[in-house]
Amino acid sequence: MLVKALFLDRDGTIIHDSSESIVALDQVRLIDRADDALALAKRAGFKLIMISNQGGIAKGVVTKERVDEINALLQSILATKNASLDLLYYAPYHPKYPKPEYDAFKSWRKPETGMIRQAQRDLAAQGLEIDFANSFFIGDKQIDVECGLRAGLRSILVKTGYGEEEICKEKHTLPELVANDLCDAIDYVLKINRANVVRHA
Ligand SMILES: [Mg+2]
Repeated sequence: MLVKALFLDRDGTIIHDSSESIVALDQVRLIDRADDALALAKRAGFKLIMISNQGGIAKGVVTKERVDEINALLQSILATKNASLDLLYYAPYHPKYPKPEYDAFKSWRKPETGMIRQAQRDLAAQGLEIDFANSFFIGDKQIDVECGLRAGLRSILVKTGYGEEEICKEKHTLPELVANDLCDAIDYVLKINRANVVRHA
């Protein structure tokens, strides 16, 4: 079965980013209306898939266990609005801090597309095939936009977090849309989705 998906960066897109890595549970603060927006996308049939670089693990500023706790807290917050994520991936690798146990995840670090390919395999195991032409990558950095484009997805940049619009221009990796925040981005996705549904009805 063909499914649409929203690939989502975490820090600066779903939750507020900080200048360093997110390392503590009290740093998990949802960006305004992100939960309501994700719930609408989920109800419209989109698989919600988190794709996050967590190089702080290789760097030694946060443990893998803490990242799992932070993600579990995020999931519990989203679950109260029926907006929990379907799949979560993070890349512990960092190019400046090589560690034998994490170097296998080099191809996972955005803008590389390893996490998207892994999601594709994991969904295939459930008999689901991603409809790339109607699926999106939403993030606040140029690497998010590039990762989405490399994977054949439609990229949206959000202005929350780093909002790297100028860097996208410099690197010639232009998103389909620059949205104020996740809520505006999902609003755009759902408008396109409704138009497609009407066209195919
Ligand atoms: Mg980010």
